[in-house]
Amino acid sequence: MSDKYLVQPDLAYINELEMLGADTLKKCFQCATCSVACPIAPENSPFPRKEMIAASWGLKDKLVSNGDIWLCHECGDCSDLCPRGARPGDVLSAIRYTAIKEYARPKFLANAVEDPKKLPFLIAIPGLWFALLAYITMTAGDTMTKIFSTFGIEWSHGGHGEIAHANFFSTWFVDMTFVPIATLVVIIFALSLKRFVTDIHQNAVDEGKTDKTSIEIKGFLQSLIKVLPVVLKHDKFNQCEANHDRATAHMMVLYSFIGLFIVTSIFFVVLYIFSIPGPYSQLNPVKWLANISGAALVIGATLMIKNRLGKKDLVSTYKDWYILGIVLSLGVTGLLTEMTRLAGYAGVSYFIYWLHLITIFNLFAFLPFSKMAHLVYRTTAMAYAEYANRK
Ligand code: SF4
Ligand code: SF4
Repeated sequence: MSDKYLVQPDLAYINELEMLGADTLKKCFQCATCSVACPIAPENSPFPRKEMIAASWGLKDKLVSNGDIWLCHECGDCSDLCPRGARPGDVLSAIRYTAIKEYARPKFLANAVEDPKKLPFLIAIPGLWFALLAYITMTAGDTMTKIFSTFGIEWSHGGHGEIAHANFFSTWFVDMTFVPIATLVVIIFALSLKRFVTDIHQNAVDEGKTDKTSIEIKGFLQSLIKVLPVVLKHDKFNQCEANHDRATAHMMVLYSFIGLFIVTSIFFVVLYIFSIPGPYSQLNPVKWLANISGAALVIGATLMIKNRLGKKDLVSTYKDWYILGIVLSLGVTGLLTEMTRLAGYAGVSYFIYWLHLITIFNLFAFLPFSKMAHLVYRTTAMAYAEYANRK
Protein backbone atom coordinates (compact mmCIF):
# COMPACT_ATOMS: atom_id res chain seq x y z
CA MET A 1 0.00 0.00 0.00
CA SER A 2 1.33 3.46 -0.86
CA ASP A 3 2.10 5.78 2.04
CA LYS A 4 1.87 8.87 -0.15
CA TYR A 5 -1.07 11.26 0.07
CA LEU A 6 -2.24 13.88 -2.36
CA VAL A 7 -3.34 17.09 -0.62
CA GLN A 8 -5.36 19.55 -2.64
CA PRO A 9 -5.22 23.07 -1.11
CA ASP A 10 -8.65 24.49 -0.34
CA LEU A 11 -8.16 27.93 -1.84
CA ALA A 12 -11.62 29.14 -0.85
CA TYR A 13 -10.90 28.42 2.80
CA ILE A 14 -7.48 30.05 2.59
CA ASN A 15 -9.14 33.15 1.11
CA GLU A 16 -11.73 33.12 3.86
CA LEU A 17 -9.01 33.03 6.52
CA GLU A 18 -7.17 35.87 4.80
CA MET A 19 -10.34 37.97 4.78
CA LEU A 20 -10.72 37.33 8.51
CA GLY A 21 -7.30 38.76 9.33
CA ALA A 22 -5.00 35.82 8.55
CA ASP A 23 -3.54 37.47 5.43
CA THR A 24 -0.01 36.70 6.63
CA LEU A 25 -0.37 32.94 6.93
CA LYS A 26 1.63 32.16 3.79
CA LYS A 27 4.69 33.92 5.21
CA CYS A 28 5.23 31.01 7.62
CA PHE A 29 8.37 28.98 6.87
CA GLN A 30 7.66 26.51 9.68
CA CYS A 31 10.55 27.33 11.99
CA ALA A 32 8.47 26.41 15.09
CA THR A 33 9.53 29.47 17.08
CA CYS A 34 5.83 30.15 17.79
CA SER A 35 5.21 26.72 19.32
CA VAL A 36 8.23 27.17 21.57
CA ALA A 37 7.21 30.73 22.49
CA CYS A 38 3.60 29.93 23.33
CA PRO A 39 3.23 29.86 27.12
CA ILE A 40 0.03 27.81 26.91
CA ALA A 41 0.78 25.14 24.29
CA PRO A 42 1.05 21.56 25.61
CA GLU A 43 4.36 19.71 25.20
CA ASN A 44 2.79 16.92 23.21
CA SER A 45 1.98 18.18 19.71
CA PRO A 46 2.13 21.90 20.60
CA PHE A 47 0.38 24.69 18.69
CA PRO A 48 0.37 26.96 16.66
CA ARG A 49 2.98 25.75 14.14
CA LYS A 50 1.00 22.67 13.11
CA GLU A 51 -2.08 24.87 12.65
CA MET A 52 -0.03 27.25 10.48
CA ILE A 53 0.92 24.36 8.22
CA ALA A 54 -2.68 23.12 8.01
CA ALA A 55 -3.92 26.68 7.35
CA SER A 56 -1.47 27.20 4.52
CA TRP A 57 -3.04 24.14 2.85
CA GLY A 58 -6.58 25.22 3.70
CA LEU A 59 -7.30 22.01 5.63
CA LYS A 60 -10.59 23.28 6.99
CA ASP A 61 -11.93 20.01 8.43
CA LYS A 62 -8.72 19.39 10.31
CA LEU A 63 -8.64 22.92 11.70
CA VAL A 64 -12.23 23.56 12.78
CA SER A 65 -12.34 20.21 14.61
CA ASN A 66 -9.06 20.91 16.37
CA GLY A 67 -9.65 21.66 20.06
CA ASP A 68 -6.19 23.24 20.32
CA ILE A 69 -7.30 26.36 18.44
CA TRP A 70 -9.49 27.17 21.45
CA LEU A 71 -6.71 26.72 24.00
CA CYS A 72 -4.98 29.72 22.40
CA HIS A 73 -5.96 32.97 24.17
CA GLU A 74 -4.80 35.29 21.38
CA CYS A 75 -2.09 36.79 23.58
CA GLY A 76 0.17 37.54 20.63
CA ASP A 77 3.44 36.27 22.20
CA CYS A 78 3.99 34.02 19.18
CA SER A 79 3.20 36.82 16.71
CA ASP A 80 5.72 39.05 18.49
CA LEU A 81 8.49 36.49 18.09
CA CYS A 82 7.68 35.10 14.64
CA PRO A 83 10.72 35.90 12.46
CA ARG A 84 8.55 36.06 9.34
CA GLY A 85 5.75 38.27 10.61
CA ALA A 86 3.24 35.49 9.92
CA ARG A 87 1.18 36.50 12.99
CA PRO A 88 0.13 32.98 14.07
CA GLY A 89 -2.02 34.48 16.86
CA ASP A 90 -4.20 36.23 14.29
CA VAL A 91 -4.31 33.13 12.09
CA LEU A 92 -5.66 31.07 15.00
CA SER A 93 -8.20 33.80 15.73
CA ALA A 94 -9.45 33.63 12.14
CA ILE A 95 -9.60 29.82 12.29
CA ARG A 96 -11.65 29.98 15.49
CA TYR A 97 -14.18 32.25 13.85
CA THR A 98 -14.59 29.82 10.94
CA ALA A 99 -15.14 27.07 13.52
CA ILE A 100 -17.94 29.11 15.15
CA LYS A 101 -19.56 29.49 11.73
CA GLU A 102 -19.07 25.81 10.97
CA TYR A 103 -20.78 24.52 14.11
CA ALA A 104 -23.63 27.03 14.43
CA ARG A 105 -26.93 26.52 12.66
CA PRO A 106 -28.75 27.99 10.73
CA LYS A 107 -25.94 28.95 8.37
CA PHE A 108 -27.67 32.00 6.89
CA LEU A 109 -27.58 33.70 10.28
CA ALA A 110 -23.87 32.95 10.65
CA ASN A 111 -23.31 34.46 7.19
CA ALA A 112 -25.42 37.52 8.05
CA VAL A 113 -23.52 38.22 11.27
CA GLU A 114 -20.15 38.22 9.51
CA ASP A 115 -21.28 40.47 6.65
CA PRO A 116 -21.03 44.25 7.33
CA LYS A 117 -23.59 44.88 4.57
CA LYS A 118 -26.18 42.96 6.60
CA LEU A 119 -25.63 45.05 9.74
CA PRO A 120 -28.43 47.53 8.89
CA PHE A 121 -30.86 44.57 8.71
CA LEU A 122 -29.61 43.11 11.99
CA ILE A 123 -30.40 46.47 13.59
CA ALA A 124 -33.58 47.29 11.65
CA ILE A 125 -35.37 43.96 12.29
CA PRO A 126 -35.34 44.20 16.11
CA GLY A 127 -35.75 47.98 15.79
CA LEU A 128 -39.06 47.58 13.93
CA TRP A 129 -40.15 44.76 16.22
CA PHE A 130 -39.65 46.80 19.39
CA ALA A 131 -41.21 49.88 17.77
CA LEU A 132 -44.30 47.76 17.05
CA LEU A 133 -44.34 46.52 20.66
CA ALA A 134 -44.07 50.12 21.90
CA TYR A 135 -46.96 51.14 19.65
CA ILE A 136 -49.17 48.32 20.98
CA THR A 137 -48.14 49.04 24.57
CA MET A 138 -49.14 52.69 24.28
CA THR A 139 -52.27 52.38 22.15
CA ALA A 140 -53.88 49.10 23.13
CA GLY A 141 -53.53 49.21 26.91
CA ASP A 142 -57.28 48.71 27.56
CA THR A 143 -57.55 45.81 25.13
CA MET A 144 -54.45 44.11 26.54
CA THR A 145 -55.73 44.63 30.11
CA LYS A 146 -58.96 42.80 29.15
CA ILE A 147 -57.14 39.96 27.37
CA PHE A 148 -54.67 39.45 30.23
CA SER A 149 -57.37 39.70 32.91
CA THR A 150 -59.23 36.73 31.34
CA PHE A 151 -56.14 34.68 32.36
CA GLY A 152 -56.08 36.34 35.77
CA ILE A 153 -52.86 38.23 34.91
CA GLU A 154 -52.20 41.91 35.45
CA TRP A 155 -51.20 43.56 32.16
CA SER A 156 -49.35 46.65 33.38
CA HIS A 157 -46.01 46.30 35.15
CA GLY A 158 -45.36 50.02 35.11
CA GLY A 159 -45.07 52.20 38.19
CA HIS A 160 -47.48 55.11 38.47
CA GLY A 161 -46.69 58.82 38.49
CA GLU A 162 -43.08 58.35 37.35
CA ILE A 163 -41.10 57.37 34.28
CA ALA A 164 -41.45 53.62 33.88
CA HIS A 165 -40.14 51.92 30.76
CA ALA A 166 -42.77 49.24 31.12
CA ASN A 167 -45.34 51.93 30.19
CA PHE A 168 -43.59 52.31 26.84
CA PHE A 169 -42.44 48.73 26.16
CA SER A 170 -44.61 46.26 28.02
CA THR A 171 -42.45 44.02 30.21
CA TRP A 172 -44.60 41.11 29.05
CA PHE A 173 -43.70 41.85 25.43
CA VAL A 174 -40.02 42.27 26.21
CA ASP A 175 -39.90 38.95 28.08
CA MET A 176 -42.06 37.21 25.49
CA THR A 177 -39.38 38.24 22.99
CA PHE A 178 -36.27 37.38 24.96
CA VAL A 179 -37.31 34.19 26.77
CA PRO A 180 -37.95 32.25 23.49
CA ILE A 181 -34.75 33.72 22.00
CA ALA A 182 -32.74 32.61 25.05
CA THR A 183 -34.30 29.14 24.80
CA LEU A 184 -33.43 28.91 21.10
CA VAL A 185 -29.87 30.03 21.76
CA VAL A 186 -29.46 27.32 24.41
CA ILE A 187 -30.78 24.69 21.96
CA ILE A 188 -28.47 25.90 19.17
CA PHE A 189 -25.47 25.81 21.50
CA ALA A 190 -26.41 22.35 22.82
CA LEU A 191 -26.62 20.89 19.30
CA SER A 192 -23.45 22.69 18.17
CA LEU A 193 -21.45 21.58 21.20
CA LYS A 194 -22.54 17.97 20.78
CA ARG A 195 -20.97 17.91 17.32
CA PHE A 196 -18.05 20.04 18.44
CA VAL A 197 -17.04 17.75 21.33
CA THR A 198 -17.41 14.65 19.16
CA ASP A 199 -15.16 16.22 16.50
CA ILE A 200 -12.43 17.53 18.82
CA HIS A 201 -12.27 14.15 20.51
CA GLN A 202 -11.92 12.36 17.16
CA ASN A 203 -9.25 14.87 16.14
CA ALA A 204 -7.37 14.31 19.41
CA VAL A 205 -7.49 10.53 18.91
CA ASP A 206 -6.35 10.81 15.26
CA GLU A 207 -3.44 13.08 16.18
CA GLY A 208 -2.40 11.06 19.22
CA LYS A 209 -3.17 13.92 21.62
CA THR A 210 -5.11 11.72 24.04
CA ASP A 211 -5.21 8.14 25.20
CA LYS A 212 -8.94 8.32 25.96
CA THR A 213 -10.92 6.22 23.52
CA SER A 214 -14.35 7.69 24.32
CA ILE A 215 -15.98 10.57 26.17
CA GLU A 216 -17.47 9.70 29.50
CA ILE A 217 -20.08 12.35 30.47
CA LYS A 218 -19.41 12.26 34.23
CA GLY A 219 -15.66 12.68 33.77
CA PHE A 220 -16.17 15.45 31.25
CA LEU A 221 -18.49 17.37 33.59
CA GLN A 222 -15.99 17.00 36.43
CA SER A 223 -13.33 18.48 34.12
CA LEU A 224 -15.69 21.32 33.26
CA ILE A 225 -16.14 22.15 36.95
CA LYS A 226 -12.36 22.02 37.36
CA VAL A 227 -11.64 24.54 34.57
CA LEU A 228 -14.33 27.08 35.56
CA PRO A 229 -12.09 28.75 38.19
CA VAL A 230 -9.31 28.92 35.57
CA VAL A 231 -11.70 30.72 33.22
CA LEU A 232 -13.03 33.05 35.93
CA LYS A 233 -9.53 33.97 37.14
CA HIS A 234 -8.18 34.26 33.59
CA ASP A 235 -5.22 32.14 34.64
CA LYS A 236 -4.29 31.33 31.03
CA PHE A 237 -4.44 34.99 29.98
CA ASN A 238 -2.11 35.83 32.82
CA GLN A 239 0.59 33.54 31.41
CA CYS A 240 0.90 35.81 28.37
CA GLU A 241 3.49 38.52 28.08
CA ALA A 242 2.93 40.63 24.95
CA ASN A 243 -0.71 41.50 25.68
CA HIS A 244 -0.91 40.71 29.36
CA ASP A 245 -2.83 43.94 30.01
CA ARG A 246 -5.79 42.65 27.98
CA ALA A 247 -6.70 40.32 30.84
CA THR A 248 -8.02 43.19 33.02
CA ALA A 249 -10.42 44.56 30.40
CA HIS A 250 -11.50 41.04 29.44
CA MET A 251 -12.24 40.18 33.07
CA MET A 252 -14.20 43.41 33.59
CA VAL A 253 -16.48 42.53 30.68
CA LEU A 254 -16.88 38.91 31.81
CA TYR A 255 -17.77 39.87 35.39
CA SER A 256 -20.11 42.61 34.16
CA PHE A 257 -22.06 40.03 32.21
CA ILE A 258 -22.19 37.74 35.23
CA GLY A 259 -23.39 40.67 37.37
CA LEU A 260 -26.05 41.69 34.85
CA PHE A 261 -27.21 38.08 34.53
CA ILE A 262 -27.67 37.90 38.33
CA VAL A 263 -29.54 41.24 38.33
CA THR A 264 -31.86 40.21 35.50
CA SER A 265 -32.61 36.85 37.14
CA ILE A 266 -33.41 38.46 40.50
CA PHE A 267 -35.71 41.11 38.99
CA PHE A 268 -37.41 38.44 36.86
CA VAL A 269 -38.28 36.48 40.02
CA VAL A 270 -39.27 39.64 41.92
CA LEU A 271 -41.64 40.67 39.11
CA TYR A 272 -43.20 37.36 38.12
CA ILE A 273 -43.13 35.45 41.41
CA PHE A 274 -43.58 38.26 43.94
CA SER A 275 -45.49 40.63 41.59
CA ILE A 276 -43.45 43.71 42.55
CA PRO A 277 -43.13 45.99 39.51
CA GLY A 278 -40.24 48.40 38.86
CA PRO A 279 -38.69 50.85 38.71
CA TYR A 280 -36.80 49.76 41.81
CA SER A 281 -35.13 52.07 44.35
CA GLN A 282 -31.53 53.11 43.80
CA LEU A 283 -30.93 52.10 47.43
CA ASN A 284 -31.69 48.49 46.52
CA PRO A 285 -28.41 46.46 46.59
CA VAL A 286 -29.47 44.68 43.39
CA LYS A 287 -29.57 48.11 41.73
CA TRP A 288 -26.05 48.78 43.01
CA LEU A 289 -24.93 45.57 41.37
CA ALA A 290 -26.70 46.60 38.14
CA ASN A 291 -25.07 50.04 38.11
CA ILE A 292 -21.60 48.75 39.00
CA SER A 293 -21.87 46.03 36.34
CA GLY A 294 -23.04 48.58 33.75
CA ALA A 295 -20.16 50.94 34.52
CA ALA A 296 -17.64 48.07 34.47
CA LEU A 297 -19.03 46.96 31.11
CA VAL A 298 -18.49 50.43 29.59
CA ILE A 299 -14.98 50.73 31.06
CA GLY A 300 -14.01 47.17 30.07
CA ALA A 301 -15.32 47.53 26.50
CA THR A 302 -13.62 50.93 26.10
CA LEU A 303 -10.32 49.48 27.30
CA MET A 304 -10.65 46.56 24.89
CA ILE A 305 -11.30 48.93 21.97
CA LYS A 306 -8.41 51.17 23.03
CA ASN A 307 -6.21 48.12 23.29
CA ARG A 308 -7.08 46.93 19.80
CA LEU A 309 -6.58 50.37 18.30
CA GLY A 310 -3.21 50.72 20.02
CA LYS A 311 -1.73 47.32 19.18
CA LYS A 312 0.02 47.15 15.87
CA ASP A 313 0.73 43.43 16.34
CA LEU A 314 -2.97 42.59 16.68
CA VAL A 315 -5.13 42.56 13.57
CA SER A 316 -8.79 43.53 14.01
CA THR A 317 -11.51 42.82 11.48
CA TYR A 318 -15.27 43.29 11.32
CA LYS A 319 -15.89 40.22 13.52
CA ASP A 320 -13.96 41.93 16.34
CA TRP A 321 -15.55 45.39 15.94
CA TYR A 322 -19.07 43.95 15.67
CA ILE A 323 -18.91 42.29 19.05
CA LEU A 324 -16.97 45.10 20.73
CA GLY A 325 -19.52 47.60 19.37
CA ILE A 326 -22.38 45.56 20.83
CA VAL A 327 -20.72 45.22 24.23
CA LEU A 328 -19.97 48.95 24.45
CA SER A 329 -23.41 49.89 23.16
CA LEU A 330 -25.04 47.58 25.71
CA GLY A 331 -23.26 49.32 28.59
CA VAL A 332 -23.69 52.87 27.30
CA THR A 333 -27.39 52.56 26.40
CA GLY A 334 -28.10 50.76 29.69
CA LEU A 335 -26.49 53.47 31.81
CA LEU A 336 -27.97 56.33 29.77
CA THR A 337 -31.44 54.79 30.01
CA GLU A 338 -31.13 54.82 33.78
CA MET A 339 -29.58 58.28 34.01
CA THR A 340 -32.15 59.96 31.75
CA ARG A 341 -34.96 58.25 33.67
CA LEU A 342 -33.63 59.58 36.96
CA ALA A 343 -33.18 63.04 35.39
CA GLY A 344 -36.85 63.00 34.32
CA TYR A 345 -36.30 63.07 30.53
CA ALA A 346 -39.03 60.58 29.64
CA GLY A 347 -38.89 60.81 25.82
CA VAL A 348 -35.10 60.62 25.67
CA SER A 349 -35.05 57.76 28.16
CA TYR A 350 -37.62 55.75 26.19
CA PHE A 351 -35.69 56.29 22.96
CA ILE A 352 -32.40 55.15 24.51
CA TYR A 353 -34.18 52.17 26.04
CA TRP A 354 -35.34 51.25 22.54
CA LEU A 355 -31.69 51.32 21.39
CA HIS A 356 -30.80 49.25 24.45
CA LEU A 357 -33.36 46.58 23.52
CA ILE A 358 -32.00 46.44 19.95
CA THR A 359 -28.51 45.91 21.34
CA ILE A 360 -29.65 43.17 23.71
CA PHE A 361 -31.41 41.48 20.79
CA ASN A 362 -28.20 41.56 18.73
CA LEU A 363 -26.17 40.19 21.60
CA PHE A 364 -28.52 37.32 22.46
CA ALA A 365 -30.09 36.29 19.17
CA PHE A 366 -26.75 36.19 17.35
CA LEU A 367 -24.66 34.88 20.24
CA PRO A 368 -23.99 31.44 18.69
CA PHE A 369 -22.81 33.09 15.45
CA SER A 370 -20.70 35.99 16.68
CA LYS A 371 -17.22 36.03 18.13
CA MET A 372 -18.86 36.13 21.56
CA ALA A 373 -19.51 32.38 21.15
CA HIS A 374 -15.81 31.91 21.94
CA LEU A 375 -16.72 31.99 25.61
CA VAL A 376 -18.74 28.78 25.22
CA TYR A 377 -16.41 26.99 22.76
CA ARG A 378 -13.21 27.86 24.61
CA THR A 379 -14.60 26.77 27.98
CA THR A 380 -15.76 23.49 26.42
CA ALA A 381 -12.39 22.91 24.70
CA MET A 382 -10.54 23.66 27.94
CA ALA A 383 -12.78 21.16 29.75
CA TYR A 384 -12.02 18.59 27.05
CA ALA A 385 -8.26 19.27 27.31
CA GLU A 386 -8.49 18.73 31.07
CA TYR A 387 -10.52 15.56 30.55
CA ALA A 388 -8.11 14.26 27.90
CA ASN A 389 -5.03 15.06 30.02
CA ARG A 390 -3.83 17.39 27.30
CA LYS A 391 -1.23 19.39 29.19
S1 SF4 B 1 4.34 31.19 12.24
FE1 SF4 B 1 6.32 32.20 12.33
S2 SF4 B 1 7.28 31.37 14.18
FE2 SF4 B 1 5.60 30.00 13.64
S3 SF4 B 1 6.49 28.40 12.40
FE3 SF4 B 1 5.75 29.97 11.01
S4 SF4 B 1 7.47 31.31 10.65
FE4 SF4 B 1 7.98 30.12 12.44
S1 SF4 C 1 -1.48 33.87 20.55
FE1 SF4 C 1 -0.56 33.36 22.54
S2 SF4 C 1 -1.76 31.61 23.26
FE2 SF4 C 1 -2.15 31.82 21.07
S3 SF4 C 1 -0.69 30.45 20.09
FE3 SF4 C 1 0.24 32.49 20.16
S4 SF4 C 1 1.45 32.50 22.03
FE4 SF4 C 1 0.02 30.78 22.18
